[in-house]
Amino acid sequence: MINFNVPPCAEKAMDYVKECVVNQKICGDGIFTKKCNTWIEERTGTTKCLLTTSCTHATELAALLADIKPGDEVIMPAYTFVSTADAFVLRGAVPVFVDIRPDTMNIDEKLIEPAITEKTKAIVPVHYAGIACEMDTIMDIAARHHLIVIEDAAQGIMASYKGKALGTFGNFGAFSFHETKNYSMGEGGALLIRDEKDVEEAEIIREKGTNRSKFYRGQIDKYTWVNFGSSYLPSDMNAAYLYAQLEIADEINNARLALWNRYYENLLPLAEAGKIELPTVPEGCVHNAHMFYIKAKDIEERTARIADLKENGIMSVFHYIPLHTAPAGQKFGRFHGEDKYTTAESERLMRLPMYYGLTLDQVDYICDTIKKF
Ligand SMILES: *Cc1c(COP(=O)(O)O)cnc(C)c1O
Repeated sequence: MINFNVPPCAEKAMDYVKECVVNQKICGDGIFTKKCNTWIEERTGTTKCLLTTSCTHATELAALLADIKPGDEVIMPAYTFVSTADAFVLRGAVPVFVDIRPDTMNIDEKLIEPAITEKTKAIVPVHYAGIACEMDTIMDIAARHHLIVIEDAAQGIMASYKGKALGTFGNFGAFSFHETKNYSMGEGGALLIRDEKDVEEAEIIREKGTNRSKFYRGQIDKYTWVNFGSSYLPSDMNAAYLYAQLEIADEINNARLALWNRYYENLLPLAEAGKIELPTVPEGCVHNAHMFYIKAKDIEERTARIADLKENGIMSVFHYIPLHTAPAGQKFGRFHGEDKYTTAESERLMRLPMYYGLTLDQVDYICDTIKKF
């Protein structure tokens, strides 16, 4: 059987986790957490990176830093994971969903401006499949309307837009290291902070509202409760597991890209014959092969295709149920404009197996099976 996902694990993971255990250094902000933060800062060029317990928590932290208040409106696509909305709903804000572009499944940047009201506080672009949103347009809208931008870059590490890393455009960016992502620590994430002015407050909120980070750096001689906060720092054991992968990040990325390209080449004739649709990578976007999806004709054909793959020992899955159609989405949010593509396109999309360790032969077999259908 070919699984849909196998969590990534690097050879050194065992040594590094063992180091934490042997040295009895397992709490947060240890050596490996710092190594991960520095690695991400150097690779992305962000001002500051703070490892967190999840991407969901990184987004929550961003919502707190952005001072999101009850009644504020936050513009985001309806085609996304629940966390994108949850972080703001927890602050009493209203997610305002807009339609996506059918080519990338990303927020349609042309629909953002019409959705802005005097209550709008932030825009949350989601880089689906590690393929960038149209960030030039989005940053321009944000600047003209004085809005905060929080990038849900859960799937976006190692991907870029016009040469700049995803997660570094907005005031804040959030990565995920969940086991379904390109690099994983089981559960985990990271907050990327663009502006120096937000760093200290982020450290405080992440450390239960205390200035413990400053204390550890020897900048103050005792730490105290200075603001509201929560606990968003992961155990150093999880960071150790992740760091082993970051050390070989290019190798993992190249292996994934080779799989992605193999899918694409294999399935191109089928797409050219109009039987399926393939993902689009707009110019200026360098993606990270987070996902390979195809689109069937409609939901019935997709269901049949998923079942056919399963009969042939291949696990494929559909993806997000649009948030505005979910009970919580209806309770907390609203859809602005027309749902022209969100529901229709999401019903056609299916994700094929993609993980570090999948082989090109397996991809060939999957593609052959798709062609036979
Ligand atoms: C995975 C994912 C999340 C949540 O990440 P966690 O680390 O599990 O909290 C949020 N948004 C998107 C787009 C994701 O793909």
